[in-house]
Amino acid sequence: MRRPDYDDVIERLQAVADDYGGQLTVQGEADGYPLYHLDLPGPEGAPHFLLSAGIHGEEPGATSGLLAWCERDLAKWLHIFHIEAFPCLNPWGFERGIRYDAEGRDLNRRFRDETPPPAIQMVRDITAGKHFAMAVDMHEDCDYYGFYVYERLEHGPHVAPALLQRIALEGPLSYGEEGDDPPIEQGLVTMAWPQGKSLVEMAAERSQWPLAFYLYHVAEHVITVETPGRQPLDVRVRMQRAAAETALSFTQRRLGL
Ligand SMILES: [Zn+2]
Repeated sequence: MRRPDYDDVIERLQAVADDYGGQLTVQGEADGYPLYHLDLPGPEGAPHFLLSAGIHGEEPGATSGLLAWCERDLAKWLHIFHIEAFPCLNPWGFERGIRYDAEGRDLNRRFRDETPPPAIQMVRDITAGKHFAMAVDMHEDCDYYGFYVYERLEHGPHVAPALLQRIALEGPLSYGEEGDDPPIEQGLVTMAWPQGKSLVEMAAERSQWPLAFYLYHVAEHVITVETPGRQPLDVRVRMQRAAAETALSFTQRRLGL
């Protein structure tokens, strides 16, 4: 298989930014790689929508899916949303197919660190004080044959039913595997609800935060999507695109836009 090429991803994202009046800027450096933020402002006062990918290096379909979505689907949303993206939060891992950063850290546990790794510091700096109508964190699960999604929400409506219906057109949903914790049912991770607690209060009880837990502080609605690493890359890329599309149309409807 061809090795993922970070420069190629960035070159193509630069073309997207140029085509649509956006900005692709270096906002940090990690393990010898520049870290990028893509900003595509919509109309004045447009709601912000966030996409992030590639925090785990061995999940190439996330960054490739985000790139494919940018190249093929993005244009039609720019009159509605202000779109921001972190296209690849672990470039060192992305090029090597390794989950962790060069120091062996799982970056997706570091969002509460006092002195976090550079990619995490970048996300916190750029999103601080902003408000996102929705944030989609794009992942893959290398051991799975089917897609699944995490959605924790204090008040509905949930996007998961529409999302899973759409994803099922592209490939299999996960019906769970032996020993899953928490269990997965028809593509949805079923998580015990924190009784009487807000998501922010729940996060406060954890010492290590994945990106989603951080995002509860800046986004109204957060989902984490996991495409199945045991399916071909083109299927996973189509699933990631479909997930972004469904999340955007859902948010457009929810906001009455
Ligand atoms: Zn992951």
